[in-house]
Amino acid sequence: MELRKDPLTRSWILVGDLESGPAQPAECPYCPRPGEAGPPPIFSMPAGDWNHDQWGTRVFAHPDPLYRIEGDAQRAGVGMYDRMRTVGAHEIIIENPDHNRPLWVASDEEVERVMLTWARRIEDLKRDPRFRYICVFKNYGAEAGEEIAHTHSELTATTFIPRRLVYELRACRDYYQMKERCVFCDVLRQEEKQETRLIEQTPNFLALCPFAPRVPYEFWLLPRYHHASYEGDVLRSPLVREAAGLLRRSLARLVRLTDAFHLVLHTIPNTTARLTQDAKWVTLHDDYHWHFEVLPLVPKRVKSYSIKEVYFCPLSPERAAALLREAPSTAQPRDAQSDIR
Ligand SMILES: [Zn+2]
Ligand SMILES: [Zn+2]
Ligand SMILES: [Zn+2]
Repeated sequence: MELRKDPLTRSWILVGDLESGPAQPAECPYCPRPGEAGPPPIFSMPAGDWNHDQWGTRVFAHPDPLYRIEGDAQRAGVGMYDRMRTVGAHEIIIENPDHNRPLWVASDEEVERVMLTWARRIEDLKRDPRFRYICVFKNYGAEAGEEIAHTHSELTATTFIPRRLVYELRACRDYYQMKERCVFCDVLRQEEKQETRLIEQTPNFLALCPFAPRVPYEFWLLPRYHHASYEGDVLRSPLVREAAGLLRRSLARLVRLTDAFHLVLHTIPNTTARLTQDAKWVTLHDDYHWHFEVLPLVPKRVKSYSIKEVYFCPLSPERAAALLREAPSTAQPRDAQSDIR
């Protein structure tokens, strides 16, 4: 695999002939087994002060990584084209010792621990000046391309800023230059006033369906106060449990309506990376605002077609928000979870 830059959109694209990865082991390698040490994690958080022997979250290198940690990106031109090696990091975050305890089934405390683990890994990987962006994401359900059965999320550290982020960062910077305000803060104020697209609000966080969604039931979760950096905020904030509770309830509502989703965290790029020390990022901390984006995969029964050039969303965010508000914010009892693995 290598990275190639599309000269028209300036997006980096992973290109290569994919070989099938290592065969799935018969036994889950991430379930705790008494007496067995297993491979050492890159990072772990204890389950709680009361029991230091039991771990709460663990982070491992991905068994079949998209990016590899060794060496330098070796950006090079091929005629007019740009390419580079797939240098980076690809990790999996085991969210719970329990094989089948997804975030919406777990407690707020457990979700908080996962959120803190994400933040700690981002902060740590940002110390590497090669990495310009750390992307935390979660693919849930077979249709979302979920590969590992044990409840988990993933993280990649890359030598470039992913495409969607570049678009957002540019738009936020341009909006700030025009209005001297953060566009997300303006979105929040308007959505709070209009209320039609709100799913739930807590004193400091908001879950809402965006005005122009890409897919049915797309929702965002963001702080109602301004902060550009997820890790900078979460690692120093007393409000993580509140955000964790809202994330848990919002996902519980969503999985009543869809079987699969992508969750992605958007935070600021690594401002100390070699290639990000650039005059164009001077207002970054004022113009950007961290958030989660959740993109469900539409169940087959909903008529859906999308043309590559234009997103087509067959469900309005106003109706989606109403349905999500009506959906119970608690997990279904386990025996009723027919389609969860
Ligand atoms: Zn397991
Ligand atoms: Zn803001
Ligand atoms: Zn975003």
